[in-house]
Amino acid sequence: MLIVGAEVDGALRDVRVERGRIGAIERCLAPLSGERVFDAAGGALLPGLHDHHIHLNAAAAALASVRCGPPEIASCEALVVALGGAPGEGGGRGVGYHTSVAGEIDRRWLDRFGPDRAVRIQHRGGRMWILNSRALALLGDDMPADGRLIDGDALLRRRLDASPPDLRPLGSALAARGVTGLTEATARNDADDYHRYARAGLDQHLLVMGTAALDDLAPHARARAGAVKLHYHDHDLPALDALIDEVACAHAADRAVAAHCVTRAELMLTLAAIEAAGPHPGDRIEHAGVAPPPAVEWIASLGLTVVTQPHFIAERGRAYRAEVAAHDQPWLYRLRGFRTVGVRLAGGSDAPFGGLDPWSSMAAATERDLGPEEVRFTPGLPTILAGLRAGSRSVGRPISACSIGAGPPRASISPRSASAPPSSMERPFTPPHRPSPIRARSPPKCAASTAPYRRSAAARSGAAGSRCRLRPG
Ligand SMILES: [Zn+2]
Repeated sequence: MLIVGAEVDGALRDVRVERGRIGAIERCLAPLSGERVFDAAGGALLPGLHDHHIHLNAAAAALASVRCGPPEIASCEALVVALGGAPGEGGGRGVGYHTSVAGEIDRRWLDRFGPDRAVRIQHRGGRMWILNSRALALLGDDMPADGRLIDGDALLRRRLDASPPDLRPLGSALAARGVTGLTEATARNDADDYHRYARAGLDQHLLVMGTAALDDLAPHARARAGAVKLHYHDHDLPALDALIDEVACAHAADRAVAAHCVTRAELMLTLAAIEAAGPHPGDRIEHAGVAPPPAVEWIASLGLTVVTQPHFIAERGRAYRAEVAAHDQPWLYRLRGFRTVGVRLAGGSDAPFGGLDPWSSMAAATERDLGPEEVRFTPGLPTILAGLRAGSRSVGRPISACSIGAGPPRASISPRSASAPPSSMERPFTPPHRPSPIRARSPPKCAASTAPYRRSAAARSGAAGSRCRLRPG
């Protein structure tokens, strides 16, 4: 393929792609006989982007759901209107709810104000679904009376007999934004999930994180297994020894860990466990939502990568200002603080819990401000492209590129051979291994790695209330 009129290093160039590699970059290249020509119309030629943290099934399902929270929905009146049009299998489906919209809503709220059919909405944290009575009736008798179902995704899938969503529309939407690689970050991913993602017809290269069941899985189509995902929350943290064992088990299987850490406590416990087990190349902290200076130094000393979501600052700013302690607000989703001490950063949308547009995320990173409103940035492309040009020294490298001009970005994904190394932007971040001063414990007690996630009674028993002034119609 010949790409003509692309911006490379600030100048217009023609670029020839041969067998998935950049063959030549010149001021002017003549098309060969039968060669496909793609006119970049002056758009910049970039490496393909990689979303380093996404939940594919949930993000695909969210494309067919109504938004129920900020920034799109900011009042209970708007929520009621949105729910009236909620699509979805097994009843209407909404996502992204936050208590700033209508308070701690429950089954009774949905029965009074929602549509007269089965409907369920997901809190934007991703763990809780709120169902109305009709939706609960579809699931059986043993459902929580208030309709607030926590960690119930597997149960919903089973009882509603719902097949996994078609991932291709999501893949197309991401490709249109220049995303050519994805890291699937759902903690419960097992071997079946892995093979399903691999067969889903996505054009993107896939790195699938998940449980210990992904140990030793061979690459399948464009997919390969990634880190063991650790997913614990403040209200139900494991004992330090159990977490050390879980980390050590992953490392013993030559897998990195990727630890969900949005609070101080989650982060500090995880860092203590990784330090005690000894870090492994590719170990990563997901989110690092609150990272005060000592934690930043600690992450740097362990050689960990941080996978961050700068767009959360834009999308959730108002809630952060209200809910996060003032002394922690400067340490939310940090970027420069990590870079200055050499911590490697990667970006991930966390879609559907964050917006999936990487350009909005990059704009949010440069415009960082815990402002009064929650917004999705619609960036001016020239500003962004200035920092992301493909280098003219790229000849001979595999290509996985997107070209962006006045229209929407378009991705071109190479039919790369299995032996070809990934391009730098696709390559999962594997920082140089820095040995820990603390030696790994051996042998690990691997029983801990399969310990089921425990749900606390406190998390299930939240009293429901509502600030909505609507009256049922
Ligand atoms: Zn996530």
